Amino acid sequence: MFQQALPILETYFGYKSFRKGQEQAIRSVLEGNNTICVMPTGGGKSICYQIPAMVLPGTTIVISPLISLMKDQVDALIQAGIPATFINSSLSYNEANERIRESKQGKYKLLYIAPERMESQEFIEDLKQMEIPLVAVDEAHCISQWGHDFRPSYRHIQQMVNNLPQKPIVLALTATATPKVREDICTLLKIDEENTVMTGFERENLSFSVIKGQDRFKFLIDYIKKNEKEAGIIYAATRKNVNQLYEKLKRENIEVARYHAGMGDVERAQEQDRFLEDKASVMVATSAFGMGIDKSNIRYVLHFQLPKNMESYYQEAGRAGRDGLDSECILLHSSQDVQIQRFLIDQSSDRSRMTRELEKLQQMVDYCHTENCLQEFILHYFGETETEPCGRCGNCLDSRSSVDVTKEAQMVLSCIIRMGQRFGKTLIAQVLTGSKNKKVTDMGFNTLSTFGIMKDQSVKDIGDFIEFLISQDLIAIEQGTFPTLYVPPKGKEVLLGKHQVHRREIVTVKQVSKSDPLFEVLREVRRKIAEAEKVPPFVIFSDAALKDMCAKVPKSSDAFLQVSGVGEMKLQKYGLDFIQAIREFCEMNPEYQSELTTEAKPAKKSLKKTLGDSHLETLKLHQNNLSLKEIAKQRDLSISTIENHLIQCAQQGLGVEFSTIIPPEYVPLLEKAVEEAGRERLKPIKELLPDEVSYFMIKGYLYFMSKEK
Ligand code: ADP
Ligand code: ZN
Repeated sequence: MFQQALPILETYFGYKSFRKGQEQAIRSVLEGNNTICVMPTGGGKSICYQIPAMVLPGTTIVISPLISLMKDQVDALIQAGIPATFINSSLSYNEANERIRESKQGKYKLLYIAPERMESQEFIEDLKQMEIPLVAVDEAHCISQWGHDFRPSYRHIQQMVNNLPQKPIVLALTATATPKVREDICTLLKIDEENTVMTGFERENLSFSVIKGQDRFKFLIDYIKKNEKEAGIIYAATRKNVNQLYEKLKRENIEVARYHAGMGDVERAQEQDRFLEDKASVMVATSAFGMGIDKSNIRYVLHFQLPKNMESYYQEAGRAGRDGLDSECILLHSSQDVQIQRFLIDQSSDRSRMTRELEKLQQMVDYCHTENCLQEFILHYFGETETEPCGRCGNCLDSRSSVDVTKEAQMVLSCIIRMGQRFGKTLIAQVLTGSKNKKVTDMGFNTLSTFGIMKDQSVKDIGDFIEFLISQDLIAIEQGTFPTLYVPPKGKEVLLGKHQVHRREIVTVKQVSKSDPLFEVLREVRRKIAEAEKVPPFVIFSDAALKDMCAKVPKSSDAFLQVSGVGEMKLQKYGLDFIQAIREFCEMNPEYQSELTTEAKPAKKSLKKTLGDSHLETLKLHQNNLSLKEIAKQRDLSISTIENHLIQCAQQGLGVEFSTIIPPEYVPLLEKAVEEAGRERLKPIKELLPDEVSYFMIKGYLYFMSKEK
């Protein structure tokens, strides 16, 4: 039966080959095995049940907890020429009955239902009269109490399956499953653990970065403006934050929508639609937004505040780039957020839960401060061990130079102390700039020796600099009605001249996706069709399909069919519109040559390939006794990338000379710190050591140690 799978993939979905895991999952199902499929968001789980549904006789039942997603998925199937429908609470009683009647006649290949339906005996009786070869359980982690989204009605699935006369095959699908949750899914749905299909959690098209010690709002505006044609989500912590950002962005003439739990249902739905239909390019939302959003062309997800744990972060950030095109996930970090999150957790009454949540928050903070690969950090968090630096995140690509700002730091710190450590950022900055502000004079701060010592800078610049010092833990925040700043021990050491402070240049925003004139034309064609068909644009064609059109410039039906994402049905329905637009465009722009690459995947592979050898080149230079700095300079890479390379070499047992990396005087200190803090986590070790001992030295030392053993 599997022979039919590839032709179906081509004819209906317009794809030439399977992605990782898809073939294995489809094979397993078609061999009649109950199967569990764990793939990251955007990995292509839907096809794992949609293709078997086409191969097998009868109607496949898809259980999905997300009503809005159901409609989009069914719309997309219909667009591809596959008969499908859904039944959920958004339908009237009569509509639902009509669809059930049609299903019994075998009119649909796929029937999507909400889990609550299975609690109705009447509905089960209806199902008994249908031919059901396969039951696909989407978001299968909802069945487990250990999951983050337990749904009691999922517990009825097995009973329903048992009740059906033909004992259908069960396929469970999820993007997030810890071993415990996986075990639960298998037990409760009678899946043999042997039939697990699992691809890694890595998202090869996402690039992660953390921005610290920079003006957040300025970064945000710059970023949105630079990427104004692209869709993005801005996550903010509270409803109030959402409303504030929304108003500010509107004032900047940005097409923005908003979403939070405090809005009315109607308004919320309207705002969501504006975003899905590409009418508003930016969505500002609390974490309430996003569940069940299938929009595949989200090019960036920007967190304006710190999320509460890595699970939420990866889920929210993961909504970027479901179509496989390069996308960015940026977290704007400010230490203040940590205090606020801590404060919120402290208020919870359940002690054990509180400890757990604080731990998770700490790991989120560690993520913000790691100098190593961010994607790797995430993968390690989720238990993957065989990883390598991604080569595309903010840390892997960091090549900013840094300047010594010790003197300026001392000025600020000393001013805070002289002012009594009871004031906020603005007043401190005003004193440093020598402001004539009434409060400054009233408090007598104009007589301090630090008054006006930084008068060549603006209050705003000093404010940013203070943010930077906070991000380095040299200034701490005392929460209260008004947060005040004080100098913690680490800052005092700077004042005493024991440590130097280096500040990197600010991160400048970049364009996440190259602009292309033909792409814009095609985007417009798609928008018009979508409006006429009353579906979101991404249901007609994904951005990936449009990009492939730009690369292939198809001017005939045959050529159009070669585009990834174009199947027979879409060729018939929309081929002409697009081919015509492409021809016209080419007549007007005879020398057009697309800069867009076609297949995202092979491009990635080659990146990995060069990355795969890159560490060896670093090793060669290292073995020629070049210092890290010299290697970085010669190779035009950041020091942290060079460090990652050497760690990678060490992991592979290649000859890294640690004695040249770790100055001998630090070895006894390292030894003592590791003894005290254990070797599980780097941060506690780091805290016991002088600042100059970098994470890299610690890592190197640990490898060195383990080899000695
Ligand atoms: P998931 O449910 O795992 O988050 P989806 O099933 O929504 O992912 O698929 C994500 C995107 O990948 C969709 O746009 C889909 O059309 C596309 N896709 C799936 N399989 C393939 C494939 N074999 N080749 C190219 N694109 C694919
Ligand atoms: Zn990386």
